[in-house]
Amino acid sequence: MDDVLELTVAEALRRIEDGELTAGEYFDAYAEAAAGDELGAYLWTANPGPTATPPPPESETTRRRAGDSLRGAPLAVKDIFCTEGIETTAGSRILEGYRPPYTATAVRKLADAGARLLGKTNMDEFAMGSSTENSGYGPVLNPWDRERVPGGSSGGSAAAVAGRLAPWAIGTDTGGSIRQPASLCGIVGLKPTYGAVSRYGMIAFASSLDQCGPLTRDVTDAALLLRAAEGRDACDSTSVGIDGGVELPSREDLDGLRFGVPRELSAEAEGIEAGVSEIFERTLGKIRELGGEVDECELPHAAHGLSAYYVLAPAEASANLARYDGVRYGLRADADADLIAMYERTRAAGFGAEVKRRIMLGTYALSSGYYEAYYGRAQRVRTKIADDFRAAFERFDYLVTPTSPTVAFKIGERTADPLAMYMSDFCTVPMSLAGIPAISIPAGLAEPDGGGSGLPVGFQIAAPAFDESGLLDAAHALERAIDFDTRPPGVRP
Ligand code: GLN
Repeated sequence: MDDVLELTVAEALRRIEDGELTAGEYFDAYAEAAAGDELGAYLWTANPGPTATPPPPESETTRRRAGDSLRGAPLAVKDIFCTEGIETTAGSRILEGYRPPYTATAVRKLADAGARLLGKTNMDEFAMGSSTENSGYGPVLNPWDRERVPGGSSGGSAAAVAGRLAPWAIGTDTGGSIRQPASLCGIVGLKPTYGAVSRYGMIAFASSLDQCGPLTRDVTDAALLLRAAEGRDACDSTSVGIDGGVELPSREDLDGLRFGVPRELSAEAEGIEAGVSEIFERTLGKIRELGGEVDECELPHAAHGLSAYYVLAPAEASANLARYDGVRYGLRADADADLIAMYERTRAAGFGAEVKRRIMLGTYALSSGYYEAYYGRAQRVRTKIADDFRAAFERFDYLVTPTSPTVAFKIGERTADPLAMYMSDFCTVPMSLAGIPAISIPAGLAEPDGGGSGLPVGFQIAAPAFDESGLLDAAHALERAIDFDTRPPGVRP
């Protein structure tokens, strides 16, 4: 049965079709693995067996079922997605005990395609963080080295997929939260174009940036998952879907494709570890071997991405998080106090330090005297960055960078220094601000600066808006050439 845990979802579905594996055996193998989670990856897991877990309900949509292409495949879901009747906390104590009365559209669409909820994964509180150490429910350990972080904020999803506790998972990416943990855990992570997947039922952090996407063991599974999750949604006016849907990747070469290497986010960028640079350069060589052209390019404003992001994201978060007041959801502290005192005590007790920091930053940036100086200016920087990408895509089909400046860092190493933590997203934030799709694929192993055993390094490829099919195709060709072994040492035979 262990062998089942090594299959990609596409391979498992093929075996189920051929009668070599049953959907029940497939689900139970993972339900048992997830129940034995030693990484802190899960906050809730389903029981094995046919009836033990109610499938994510929503009876009326089940009737409209799109088909059963995913045949009961187990799916891990970041705890930021509402699941009807199942506790949903977004990693925050303030939502402890909250059982949503409805299921997020992305989860419902995957269930409609046949996926079955395996568990809810741990995460940084309200998706604020790059290490999953900001969870209100304890940290997640990286399956490659349990003294290190899995990245964040979708660290539970990434650790579960890499650690063979889930075949695939969904996460959310606001500034890097799918790509960076995928990179640190040696798996594939895709942030789709803003608007490709519905945000309905996805607990909001920064609404103009938040996007749902897959964390998988290979590029084909990422396409399979995105294909089922994307689409228009009447419940989310920003969700337009991907025109023509998502095709499964088949490309084996990169003939005729032009890849741009933005100087500001690669060689010239500060803080990129030597081992990460080396793998990045080696991967550029593979692109050339596959027939792709590689050339330098410029994104003149990209280096200002983090500064703009840390005005915009906290500003939106401060507004989105105003609803957690002890009245409507989860925790209520000091119910006998007067109303204002109850609000204050609930928020003081329920939110962690990073969330409070962002609410204060965001409220300040939006205050009347400063609105133009901070928020207005950051919006203008965002527009400049989007223009930079548009200009670059006139010359290039794809842009490539390292995903994360470093390999997985030690638990506790950056918790006292928020700025060092924010640097984790230096290479991923610009694409988020521009709203374009970007994928991270594992490219090799590198020693951390200071030495130690090899840890995964991710390679990021960004594409023009809604070119997910082309992006997945290029990533697929490159993935074949890299031939990365996604099994962490602990799970190798
Ligand atoms: N690490 C970034 C932050 O803390 C991005 C998080 C995310 O993408 N959700 O805001």
